[in-house]
Amino acid sequence: MAIIIDGKATSLAMKEELKGKIDAFISQTGVTPGLAVIIVGNNPASAVYVRNKENACAAVGIHSETFRLAEETTEEELLALVRKLNADEAIHGILVQLPLPSHISEEKVIASISPKKDVDAFHAENVGHIMIGNYHFLPCTPAGVMALLERYGIEVAGKHCVVIGRSNIVGKPQAMLLLEKNGTVTVCHSKTKNLADITRQADILVAAVGRARFVRADMVKDGAVVIDVGINRLADGTLCGDVDFEAVKEKAYAITPVPGGVGPMTVTMLLYNTLTAAKESLK
Ligand code: NAP
Repeated sequence: MAIIIDGKATSLAMKEELKGKIDAFISQTGVTPGLAVIIVGNNPASAVYVRNKENACAAVGIHSETFRLAEETTEEELLALVRKLNADEAIHGILVQLPLPSHISEEKVIASISPKKDVDAFHAENVGHIMIGNYHFLPCTPAGVMALLERYGIEVAGKHCVVIGRSNIVGKPQAMLLLEKNGTVTVCHSKTKNLADITRQADILVAAVGRARFVRADMVKDGAVVIDVGINRLADGTLCGDVDFEAVKEKAYAITPVPGGVGPMTVTMLLYNTLTAAKESLK
């Protein structure tokens, strides 16, 4: 049976460490790191994520302000709020909770956030920094995966890392980060042929597909490390990942559960990015 990679415990430990760093930063500089979170509309999942972020900020000593905007907010109104926050010295990080209502361009809104306050690392300027390996912020979910691998002593260098999924927020940056750590990386997607033949070669398999129990045991090599980024809600309301956890844990060397794996790490990495943004603002 595999080692269960405990994202909840790891994120608690990392938040504890971060709290100490934030206390020290505040006493040295007199500056409290500040995060603005904007949510537009009534998506219930987004509302839960935003509440989690508020609670996490409070727990580590980050000042947070949440802007809850109505579904019918116009793109210009949202852009005006971002511009105001870009100029607000008490705010070091700005996060616009996605998805946005369909009448608002996510691309335009992301582009309007100051790259220095873009703690999600979605702005093209920050994506470019990641490509050349010279960055301040990493996107939270892939960074959380890397932190789990590091804290569990899982070496990436020389390993065949297979990422299923190529979204801008998970799959693509995940592939870049594994490459930066000297993994040999294969990225798979919906047009990939013979997917199982490729995933069976993976020493480290990252699933970011968005399909419940998509990765079956026969797609996994004995002794592989399996990281499940997926969050899927089943008909009975329970959460499940992209990996058939019960079957795959019998084959893998280590595996992340859902919930309690990658999910808790995402918010933790956002908090780290906010402290980084506050430090950078003083340079
Ligand atoms: P996404 O934008 O929908 O991307 C899904 C990716 O999976 C796409 O690249 C797609 O390929 C690929 N895919 C779909 N069907 C496939 C198939 N049959 N075979 C191979 N590849 C296939 O999703 P996302 O935003 O990356 O999120 C992925 C999952 O992670 C979701 O469950 C999401 O809820 C979860 N998530 C979790 C966290 C967290 O904090 N843990 C954060 C973000 C996302 P194409 O590009 O060809 O369409």
